[in-house]
Amino acid sequence: MTYPTQPTASHFIGGQYVEDTSGPPIDVIYPATGEVIARVHSATPAIVAQAVAAARGAQAAWQAMTGTERGRILRRAADILRARNHDLSVLETYDTGKPYQETSVADATSGADALEYFGGMAATLTGEHIQLGEDWVYTRREALGVCVGIGAWNYPTQIACWKGAPALACGNTMVFKPSETTPLCALKVAEILHEAGAPAGVYNVIQGLGDVGAALVSHDDVDKVSLTGSVPTGRKVYAAAAAGVKHVTMELGGKSPLIIFDDADVENAVSGAILGNFYSSGQVCSNGTRVYVHKDIKHAFLTCLSERLGKAVIGDPMDPETSFGPMVSAAQMEIVQGYIAKGKAEGARLVCGGDRIDRAGYYLQPTVFADVTDDMTIAREEIFGPVMAVLDFEDEADVLARANDTEFGLAAGVFTRDLSRAHRMAAGFEAGTCYINTYNDSPVEAPFGGSKQSGVGRENSKAAIEHYSQLKSVYVRMGNLEAPF
Ligand code: NDP
Repeated sequence: MTYPTQPTASHFIGGQYVEDTSGPPIDVIYPATGEVIARVHSATPAIVAQAVAAARGAQAAWQAMTGTERGRILRRAADILRARNHDLSVLETYDTGKPYQETSVADATSGADALEYFGGMAATLTGEHIQLGEDWVYTRREALGVCVGIGAWNYPTQIACWKGAPALACGNTMVFKPSETTPLCALKVAEILHEAGAPAGVYNVIQGLGDVGAALVSHDDVDKVSLTGSVPTGRKVYAAAAAGVKHVTMELGGKSPLIIFDDADVENAVSGAILGNFYSSGQVCSNGTRVYVHKDIKHAFLTCLSERLGKAVIGDPMDPETSFGPMVSAAQMEIVQGYIAKGKAEGARLVCGGDRIDRAGYYLQPTVFADVTDDMTIAREEIFGPVMAVLDFEDEADVLARANDTEFGLAAGVFTRDLSRAHRMAAGFEAGTCYINTYNDSPVEAPFGGSKQSGVGRENSKAAIEHYSQLKSVYVRMGNLEAPF
């Protein structure tokens, strides 16, 4: 099966598609049917070397351009992404299985936002002047050099742009490796950046499994690594980057708490819990999968939730009416089924879902467990699927302590009408991103990232600039210079 928007080769290096079929094949599977829709090849060591050399070769000239010139190219790429949103969304749906209803508003559009935002910011990046009597220091904000981006499979277009846009705005070049599960979308991002005027070698994409990622991370000519992935992978990549004293950004996993007080608007709280557990079939890093519900509204919450889940339209992801699609792969579906089995075995009460859906593809029912306790596996480990754990609570201080009792610190949310309590909770959460009466917003204007084991550094917003540039201090003496001898 060939789709109109499919990339034409495995890699995009030095401004063109490059094929090398001697690398191991990677079949691209459409999660809604299990069909193989494309085949790419993993990068060989020669392809890795070629990509890093292309990025290195392009970097000095890219950095030498003015910020206005670089920004114009990024903003042009944003316009192309928006103009081709339909085709790119179809490709994202084939790559990930996420419903078109989602991909048409959350993927190429979010990538375009990042390119537009950092494109606009490129010309504003400056150092500062520091007066020291008659002498002075000025700082230059300089690029880091060659950046490597490594992506997870849940948001392939968005991740390629969230990493590429700030990196390129600061004058870096990039080699991006998508997850081997979703290799297609990042190639389109590279193609569009090139079409928008990015010189050859500024943004390159190569395919491969973890070994290709590892080869990039340990490459001597790479200056920075930005990973979106799980905590175990993050540990490995962080350690490998440390060996070369490379800069890192780590966007890792989570097991985020969502706390619903008895004064919350129940409909809104259920909306937050749905957005924080079932969007993208639950394959979102910041999901609020530990839902602590005050015992006085537990019944109302679960009743409303079950009713609303009954309205999910599960089916063909290409149908614009479909609001819930398959898991990304058979492997991920099996992992999630394993957690559902553990939830049952450890005594959680299954409120709804729990089974595979009887149709082609990797569909699981939206699943809710109630009466979950903090020690259960489904309350402690990241599941990365459509499984919500509902836990009871009564006391604010107690629930905050329980919410924070985890190695993760990506996100946290609270639903309450009490303004003081909402901000008290936000201040108390050990998490990089907090939500009050909402969940899972991620506009490019706001910093996004985790604390504790969930990450290092921030993506999006002005904060990302700090992670893709470095300051050089230049000391200037106006008078004579004294020395001891
Ligand atoms: P993985 O950690 O399995 O993989 C992430 C990427 O790292 C993939 O491209 C993978 O390649 C690559 N990789 C694996 N091993 C190495 C290695 N030793 N060196 C370099 N690269 C390597 O994550 P998933 O793809 O399964 O994605 C799900 C995870 O991502 C979840 O934990 C989720 O929470 C997290 N995530 C975090 C986000 C955030 O912003 N904080 C956002 C989205 C997801 P390959 O898979 O091809 O083998």
